[in-house]
Amino acid sequence: MQYVLFGPLVWKVVQEWREQGGLPLGSWWLHLLVLFAVRGLTYQFWFTYGNMLFFTRRRRVVADGVDFRQIDAEWDWDNFLLLQTLIGATVVNSPLLPGLRQLCLWDPRGWAVALLLHVGFSEPVFYLAHRALHRTPLFARYHAAHHASGVTQPLTAGFGTPLESLLLTLAMGAPLAGAFLVGHGSLALVYGHAFVFDYLRAMGYSNVEIVSPRVFDAFPPLRYILYTPSYLSLHHRERRGNFCLFMPALDAAFGTLDGRAWALQRAAYDGTAGGGALGTPEFVLLAHVVDIMSSMHVPFVLRSLSSAPFANHFILLPFWPVAFGFMLLMWCCSKTFVVSFYYLRGHLHQTWSVPRYGFQYFLPAAKKGINHQIELAILRADRMGVKVLSLAALNKVSSPACFYC
Ligand SMILES: [Zn+2]
Repeated sequence: MQYVLFGPLVWKVVQEWREQGGLPLGSWWLHLLVLFAVRGLTYQFWFTYGNMLFFTRRRRVVADGVDFRQIDAEWDWDNFLLLQTLIGATVVNSPLLPGLRQLCLWDPRGWAVALLLHVGFSEPVFYLAHRALHRTPLFARYHAAHHASGVTQPLTAGFGTPLESLLLTLAMGAPLAGAFLVGHGSLALVYGHAFVFDYLRAMGYSNVEIVSPRVFDAFPPLRYILYTPSYLSLHHRERRGNFCLFMPALDAAFGTLDGRAWALQRAAYDGTAGGGALGTPEFVLLAHVVDIMSSMHVPFVLRSLSSAPFANHFILLPFWPVAFGFMLLMWCCSKTFVVSFYYLRGHLHQTWSVPRYGFQYFLPAAKKGINHQIELAILRADRMGVKVLSLAALNKVSSPACFYC
């Protein structure tokens, strides 16, 4: 509902479209709306990747899963993107930045100015403000809600109070404003800077370690230039150090560096003890996909959809052909994969999915392949040491007496 706030921007684009008789590619209003979509998708793609357990289960930083309280709290995680888009619209409409009047596509000098301002202004300002937010009484009033999310997710990056959103806006906007003030701003800089900023934020919150410790071993100074998901995770959970935006050099300079982050990075990346890799489950439910529409409710697509699995959304209809394509792809070349997990009193439970859909169980030609998939999954569970494996719905019917507890 909050998206109605974009009404004036959409109206401006429509007006310019009418005046110009075509898509107004030189319109800042249009670019602000596109930028909002691109930025939202950056966080969404990181969320999708982080929750594809078949890719990431061995590189998790924290083993725990996300609970429904966190999902509810982070429901409107993109509010900060709305705020920043509206602030952008205000700046575009004001005489503050005359450089914005002429839309320049590319100017390499602007990138240099933005980089200087990021390192010399955004990083120190964010660091000092973040440290201040961890002191009494600011923490309880403005930062505690953000830290209440137990396991960081890319969407957690956007969840915070308006004050935190304004601080992020300042950190992200200052390099852009500086570049435009000195007359070297460009459209490419706006998109590029926003993308890199969001990419690094979403990466840090992804709870999946993607930065190889071997890279830091080969080039040690890099560990002070680029943070890692382990680095941020340690701050988020323990709140004792690692306050920087992206550059640990600030923490090193001010004595708040928690060096355990690099040992955690190694453990998480290599999937060894100390990291959050999902171990051998004690209980596995061997499920299958019900139909094409339900396939779009898996946890790694949209969190809002997967938290309401039985609801039908018309917004999904245009994506039906895409989901159908994935069904064919899975039929051709997928193996049984991990969909979700949870811990019950310290015991790990996982749901695995046979890569087949409900209707395929009624195709005689598909029966042999389904039985083969179930057999392979059971053998794999046996090798791993899974204690209990149960077959869901049609798998139980299809599988020839290979159910055991
Ligand atoms: Zn903090």
